[in-house]
Amino acid sequence: MARFKKERRARTSQRERLEIPADAWEKCDVCGHVDIRDRFERALNVCPECGHHRRLPATGYIELLTDPESWRELFGNLRSEDALGFEHYPERLEKACEKAGECDAVFTGSARLEGMPVHLAVMNFAFMGGSMGSVVGEKVARLTRRSVEKKIPLIIVSMSGGARMQEGVLSLMQMAKTSAQMARLHALAVPFISILTNPTTGGVSASFAMQGDVILAEPGAVIGFAGPRVIKQTIGQDLPEGFQTAEFLLEHGQIDEVVPRRSLRDTTARLLRHMERVEYEEEPA
Ligand SMILES: [Zn+2]
Repeated sequence: MARFKKERRARTSQRERLEIPADAWEKCDVCGHVDIRDRFERALNVCPECGHHRRLPATGYIELLTDPESWRELFGNLRSEDALGFEHYPERLEKACEKAGECDAVFTGSARLEGMPVHLAVMNFAFMGGSMGSVVGEKVARLTRRSVEKKIPLIIVSMSGGARMQEGVLSLMQMAKTSAQMARLHALAVPFISILTNPTTGGVSASFAMQGDVILAEPGAVIGFAGPRVIKQTIGQDLPEGFQTAEFLLEHGQIDEVVPRRSLRDTTARLLRHMERVEYEEEPA
C-alpha cells in the first residue's frame, strides 16, 4: 500500500520562499499574472496565463528563426549621419547606441533555417523605437538585393514606430528604396516572408512589411500606418473595436495568418519549403 501513502516533503519555510530576489519576478501588463522571470523567458516572453505577447528583443527572434551557429551578420558597420543637422540628433544616436548596445534599428544577416539558406532582417525596437532612417532602409535594401542576386529567400521581422523623424525626407525615401528592391525580388519569385510584431506602424508598414509573399503577424500586434486618434480626426468617424490589431487585419484580408510566437519557426520553415522552387526565372529586363 506504499503507493497510497502521502509522501512527506519538507516544507519550504516562509523565510526561504521570501529569499527569491524581487527582480526575479515579472508581471503581465494585461492580466496581472505574476510569475518568475524564467517562466516568461522560457515561453519566449509570452504570458503563461493569458498568452499576451510581450516584446521579444531582436536577438530573441534571431535565435528563434535560425539554426544554431548559422547566423552571420551583414552590413553591421553602417551608421547614421546627421545629414540634416537635426538638433541633438548626434547625441541621441550616441545615447541610443550605448543603451541598446547596437548602433541602429535593424539586424541583417544570412543564416540557415532547418537547413535552408535564408536572409533574415530583424528590427530592433530597443534602438530609437525601431525607427527607419537611412541605415535601416539601406540594410534592408542591401539584404533584399543580396536575396535577388543569390536567389535566397528573405524573412523580415518588423517592429517599428515608423520613419525616423530626425532624418526627415531621407527617412521617407527609404520606403521607395526598399520597395524597389522588393519588386525585383517578386519579379524573380524569390520567397519573402514578412513577420509583423507589435508594433508595426508608419513607414515600415507602408513599405516592405506589407509586401511579403506571405504576411504573418503575432497575436495582438498593433499594425497600421497612422495612430487611431489621427485617423479618427481625419475621417471624422468612430473606429471599430479592435481596429489595427493583427486579428482585425486578418479578418479584413490584409494579412495571411496570425501565428503565436511558439509556432513562428515551424510555420516559416514550412512555408519556405512549400514556396522554394529549384529553378528561378531570370529577372525580366
Ligand atoms: Zn497575462
